[in-house]
Amino acid sequence: MNARIPDGGAPAAPAHVRSISRYIPGKPTDELARELGLDAATIVKLASNENPRGPGPRVRAAIADAVAELPRYPDANGFLLKAALARRLSVPADQIVLGNGSNDVLELVTLAFLQPGDEAVYAQHAFVVYPLATQARGAKGIEVPARDFGHDLAAMRAAITSRTRIVFVANPNNPTGTWVAPADMLAFVASLPRDVIVVLDEAYNEYLKPSQRAQSVGWIAQHPNLVVSRTFSKAYGLASLRVGYGVMHADVADLLNRVRQPFNVNSLAQAAALAALDDDAYVEESRELNEAGMRQIVDGLSKRGLRYVPSHGNFVLVHVGNGLRVNSELMKRGVIVRPVANYGLPEWLRVTVGLPAENDRFLDALGRVLEG
Ligand code: PMP
Repeated sequence: MNARIPDGGAPAAPAHVRSISRYIPGKPTDELARELGLDAATIVKLASNENPRGPGPRVRAAIADAVAELPRYPDANGFLLKAALARRLSVPADQIVLGNGSNDVLELVTLAFLQPGDEAVYAQHAFVVYPLATQARGAKGIEVPARDFGHDLAAMRAAITSRTRIVFVANPNNPTGTWVAPADMLAFVASLPRDVIVVLDEAYNEYLKPSQRAQSVGWIAQHPNLVVSRTFSKAYGLASLRVGYGVMHADVADLLNRVRQPFNVNSLAQAAALAALDDDAYVEESRELNEAGMRQIVDGLSKRGLRYVPSHGNFVLVHVGNGLRVNSELMKRGVIVRPVANYGLPEWLRVTVGLPAENDRFLDALGRVLEG
């Protein structure tokens, strides 16, 4: 397993690390500008499910104030942010683990619970970090075929064996935008063996209508194997600062804290998240902007006779035939979206809902590419 590369070079990593396919991020605007000699200011990036408004003025002010803290290490315990989250979610602070993005929380769950030989279950077309984090631990990923692009919860339940340690469920799911209603999700959680951790990844929770949002944090009291993860990267507009959190039983949180980097969330991120959490109006405006932008995009797709998967997130999958070709043609026109061939969806592209003018740029460019 740990053999060295025979002809020199770097020492070889274990086979399970070497077999990992790297995460493919959305293309950065500056990179495309450099490659195609375009003016970065004219490029529209709808590739990473960010909030096109960014953070609100109160959050920007909190970040500016927190600059004074930069010479010092951040609070390793995230006291103020955890206290605010605890109040809002009606759980004790020791049930919250902060992450360097919610991605970090997903990683921490695998670090705490997986070892080689274990299994983690997730759906086909589910967020790619589930297989990545599973493989990095030398554990085995069990991908359960999707149904209508979404999670087939009955099949996922049936895929659980005595080796299963973790089940990952994204709700809404990225990249498909599919969504499971709260009652069905709770029934799924309740159906699982207690010694299997279920990670309910709610990165796009704030894009649901308030009436659709599950009271999933409240389920933890009955289901101590449940971890709910959320993020400030999406509706809160703080993707670059990297801050998310998980809510879970205090004993599970204790395990995650043992494997967590002590200073995993920087002080600007903590201050910004604290201010963002207070600004409900801003999040609601962002949700409404997204709803209108989603309508604009799907109406535009329908007018052009294009199929899409109805989405509950801030992004939508559109059927374009040859995803890679259409993607590169869109880039030539200064529009960056996300190919999803690595999600088993080579005929589709995922587009993030942007500002109205950005959505128009995308629709216009797509129309031209598909006509041309
Ligand atoms: N879960 C899902 C379903 C996501 O789409 C993403 C971001 N692409 C994440 C988690 C991680 O986001 P972050 O680390 O920025 O919180």
